[in-house]
Amino acid sequence: MSLLREPILALSRSDRVRDALVRTPVTRGVVERYVPGETTADAVRVAGELAADGLHVTLDHLGEDTLDVAQSWATVDAYHELLTALADEGLAHRAEVSVKLTALGLALPDDGPQLALEQAQRICRAARRAGTTVTIDMESHAVTDATLMIVHELRRDFPETGAVLQSYLHRTVSDCRTLAHEDSRVRLCKGAYAEPDDVAHTDPEDIARAYVRCLKILMAGAGYPMVATHDPRLIEIASALAARHGRRPGTYEFQMLYGIRPDEQRRLAERGETVRVYVPYGAQWYGYLMRRLAERPSNLTLFARSLVST
Ligand code: FAD
Repeated sequence: MSLLREPILALSRSDRVRDALVRTPVTRGVVERYVPGETTADAVRVAGELAADGLHVTLDHLGEDTLDVAQSWATVDAYHELLTALADEGLAHRAEVSVKLTALGLALPDDGPQLALEQAQRICRAARRAGTTVTIDMESHAVTDATLMIVHELRRDFPETGAVLQSYLHRTVSDCRTLAHEDSRVRLCKGAYAEPDDVAHTDPEDIARAYVRCLKILMAGAGYPMVATHDPRLIEIASALAARHGRRPGTYEFQMLYGIRPDEQRRLAERGETVRVYVPYGAQWYGYLMRRLAERPSNLTLFARSLVST
């Protein structure tokens, strides 16, 4: 794993660095590669462009780790506005939403989990009204249990709600077995947070091997696997496993992040695969951007150069 990954992920939690960067206009160029805009109108425009290219979309209103109830409500309002706009533009069959529970107040002391559940239920209700679905993003291991519990609760009324599992966590093979059932939508990713080695694999090859173990379970299961990776080896293995289990395109999907391997996204879609692009939008891009830089420290050179030339 890159020597820079840990320090960059540590910076992703620094309010001081965040405040300095957000005030620096030149960071915009780097941000735009991964975050195409700040407003609902930007999100809907990009969703329309990707849909016109034959791609599906999941939209994430950026924000996380809030301890402010008013901020939690602002996030719910933003999703309401987005879902209404998607329905109005006729995009709800192509675009769903991704939601982080810590943006809804999960980490608030005492009643955080209850608040996050109720707020997520409001978003699921709005999504169903609009004709689309919600996937609950997975965050650091500190909230894995709480997140899976809330997804379980949400699925009582909204069984279409998607879950996310991270192959780097030691527990995930077992979570895959639990979730590989009928009607279950599971996004499998490697995992983007800095995790200690008693809970997570830290060697990239171990993480990839664990990803394959998880893929085997999900592809053999009765649910709907969402293969979220840009890793060419894993994409090939996922395709082979889908074929081995007689899965046709549309009974699973590939997912990639906005701005990463866009040609591969279109190549897979042209081959007849369902491909969904994760599009984050909004002003609170700092944590998201730092996780993307941590995955690709070579992007840091570009980033640092833009700061020096300020
Ligand atoms: P890597 O080995 O990191 O990358 C493979 C190749 O992809 C690289 O060689 C490079 O060519 C390209 N690439 C990867 N990252 C970058 C980058 N930043 N810039 C440029 N090129 C790059 N993580 C979570 O913890 N929780 C979530 O809820 C979550 N949701 C996700 C949803 C989607 C749709 C996707 C695609 C990822 C999500 N992730 C999430 C992030 C994921 O966990 C990984 O951190 C991320 O996808 C990088 O891993 P990789 O599988 O692409 O493999």
